[in-house]
Amino acid sequence: MLHNYIQHKQSLLLEKQADFYTSTGLHVFFKDPVENVNVEKVIAKVESSIPNHLLSEIEMIIFGWFDEFEERSLNAFYDGGTLYISNIQDDFMDMYDDLIHEISHSLEEPHGYFLYGDKKIENEFLKKRKYVHDILWNMGYKIPLSVFMDSEYNKELDMFLYEKIGYDKLATAIAGVFITPYSITSLREYFATGFTEFYLHPDEHGFLQKVSPELYKKLVLLQNPEELDS
Ligand SMILES: [Zn+2]
Repeated sequence: MLHNYIQHKQSLLLEKQADFYTSTGLHVFFKDPVENVNVEKVIAKVESSIPNHLLSEIEMIIFGWFDEFEERSLNAFYDGGTLYISNIQDDFMDMYDDLIHEISHSLEEPHGYFLYGDKKIENEFLKKRKYVHDILWNMGYKIPLSVFMDSEYNKELDMFLYEKIGYDKLATAIAGVFITPYSITSLREYFATGFTEFYLHPDEHGFLQKVSPELYKKLVLLQNPEELDS
């Protein structure tokens, strides 16, 4: 009996994914088990792809399913030094994408002035918003321009873009203007989708550079810690 009990106990321990610390000091914690993705490999890739000084805000990564996901239809978010990432992932790249995207949000508060102080990214973003506004207007979607000229997140606009217009039509309207339909959501997401693209495809920056030159310049500068200190 005792033998069986120990065996059973051991198999339970094997099933539960072990929390771990990475070499750079990230604490990785499993609230719910992650299936079909090798988490340690994904995090090793994050640590080798993103410069160290851009990871310094992150203390913990928690994998699991959170109420916030349902409330805001998300599958990841950043809050106070912690990345909350869905334990349900399609594959390696799906998880890698979520991590990089949320890391970008951790940089906005400490480096807000560097990123947004000169308004270059915001002006680029608003010029694109205006352009897409005019395309949608001609397609029959009469949304007041003032709504498009506010760079903050606006839930009504978000719902309108994704539910009323729909992802396919939106993708057509933004083609060649934004790198993904999600980039139009807000200034913060414009930055986050650019940051993600920059590190997801490190050898193919041509499209990002062409479509979003000001954002691209900032992403290049962001790689240099001395730029951020000054
Ligand atoms: Zn985001």
